[in-house]
Amino acid sequence: MTAAPLPFIDLKAQQARIGDRIEARIRAVLAHGQFIMGPEVRQLEAELAAFAGARHCISCASGTDALLLALMALGVGPGQAVFVPTFTFVATAEVVALLGATPIFVDVREDTFNLDADSLRGAVEEARRLGLRPAAVIPVDLFGLPADYDAIGAVAAEFGLRILADAAQSFGGSRHGRPVGSLAEVTATSFFPAKPLGCFGDGGAVFTDSDELAAVMRSLRVHGQGGDKYDNVRVGINGRLDTIQAAILLEKLAIFADEITARQVAAGRYATALASHVGLQAIPDGHVSAWAQYTLVTDRRDAIATACKAAGVPTAIYYPKPLHRQTGYSGFPTAPGGCPVSEALAAKVISLPMHPYLDSETQGRVVAAVTSA
Ligand SMILES: *Cc1c(COP(=O)(O)O)cnc(C)c1O
Repeated sequence: MTAAPLPFIDLKAQQARIGDRIEARIRAVLAHGQFIMGPEVRQLEAELAAFAGARHCISCASGTDALLLALMALGVGPGQAVFVPTFTFVATAEVVALLGATPIFVDVREDTFNLDADSLRGAVEEARRLGLRPAAVIPVDLFGLPADYDAIGAVAAEFGLRILADAAQSFGGSRHGRPVGSLAEVTATSFFPAKPLGCFGDGGAVFTDSDELAAVMRSLRVHGQGGDKYDNVRVGINGRLDTIQAAILLEKLAIFADEITARQVAAGRYATALASHVGLQAIPDGHVSAWAQYTLVTDRRDAIATACKAAGVPTAIYYPKPLHRQTGYSGFPTAPGGCPVSEALAAKVISLPMHPYLDSETQGRVVAAVTSA
């Protein structure tokens, strides 16, 4: 007899903890009726900015819109190259291509799975060879681990690249005591339900210390609005966060630091049990991951997936195909020599159930299934 299947991310456990408070927040929005840009949106932006150690937070409709607003504010467009890791979710490159700029795919590091600064340098040279102007780099904090902003920052400074952090998976993480949201000129995050801080639908936010970028992004978010509603000073989008989602996030943010701590405990238990069996994402000294995913590297992926499935343990593969191998993106350039580390990882990674409410007994079940393979 097998036990009941486990959830990959247990959103029900969180609901049991704060469901009543979330429902009260939603009822308050229904009562005041300001569904667009209501008071909860402003309150959430203030609280998020404080949490992230950033001067400004601009909430928006999704993580993808957060990236898009940031690139638009940076003035990215045709003739420009924007460097993105190939081992990431498609949105990172999508926004670049949507704006008519050229995404150039960069390889990642074998240990951290994050952008490789040496590959970035090669990619910048490739962009120049192709007659494109190197404009920006989008480091992704993969699976919640902040990228190496020192090494990437050095290359960016040398070539005049702007840095937009794709922190869709890493909100709540930090690097040498500095929170995600304060590690780059602009940071984009996502509140998609499965992200570390998720709402009950789509949502996102951008962080920056720049008054100028913040003002432009606030305008872009509402159709390029100027002084009033029917004054349009630039071409923008409809990219606002719903008031109801902001209200939900206010309650979730109240317990978020506690949940990030719980994720460290769960990740520590996995590491202790699994380190001698499989490869793990390396967490450099001074880094705190938000642990959006707990990911193994193994030559026995299929066997592990099969054993887990039989034991009612869900697994997932992030990501089975690097972006430069995707049909929609295979026409864009890569760093010279391609992206061999990303290709190897795509063939070997597998992610395990991860959330703040994992207990040691449940993790023991996951570990038993993995090690049985
Ligand atoms: C989820 C994700 C996004 C997009 O966020 P959405 O809110 O789903 O639009 C962008 N980049 C990365 C790395 C992501 O994981």
